[in-house]
Amino acid sequence: MNKMIALSFDDGTMNDERLVRLLDSYQIKATFHLNGGLFPSSDQTTEGDRLPLNCLKALYTNHEVAAHGFTHPDLTKLSDHEIHMELIKDIEALDHGFDQSTFGFAYPFGVYDDRVIGQLTKTKLVYARTIEDTHRFDVPKDFYHINPTCHCKDIDLLNLADQFVHLSSKEPQFFLVWGHSIEFVTNEDWARFEEFLKRVSHQEDIFYGSILECIAHLKKQ
Ligand SMILES: [Zn+2]
Repeated sequence: MNKMIALSFDDGTMNDERLVRLLDSYQIKATFHLNGGLFPSSDQTTEGDRLPLNCLKALYTNHEVAAHGFTHPDLTKLSDHEIHMELIKDIEALDHGFDQSTFGFAYPFGVYDDRVIGQLTKTKLVYARTIEDTHRFDVPKDFYHINPTCHCKDIDLLNLADQFVHLSSKEPQFFLVWGHSIEFVTNEDWARFEEFLKRVSHQEDIFYGSILECIAHLKKQ
């Protein structure tokens, strides 16, 4: 299978509960990028409607949990040491909180520079997702610059889904959608995203994985 699809959602907020039910019903995997320093300490949700760790742990069983900075800072504004600590503390919190080894990353606010990438390469994180939509299905050339195909509410989302499903190519193709479940506000938003899942799911020639699994699959091609 040389067509791969992955979904990537940031911040671990309340609508993830509804989103994960939907993804699981279509057997589609996602990667959830979390800030280990911002989990509410009790069962109460906090400002920004972030979910507590015990909720998230049960919720993401079928999905990848990845890093997003310990406190969601603009990393380009920090010193090298501060960047390092934001990465290391997030990795530690997620490794411990989810009984896993964390390998994925998404840039908070989508911003990065060479210093940020330099610090990433000193950790065990093997990839980083940007928010630079390409509207294409190119596979990443550099795993610290994984550009998504489009946002989850992109006006072209369903057209891109149809293109991808009908695409026949000898070269590997990667469809990556990113966003925040909190951006699904109206019933129409949810219905449109479900329509997207309906169109892309259950295809024999598509590999469905987390970003990390798609990278592993790509390396085997
Ligand atoms: Zn974020």
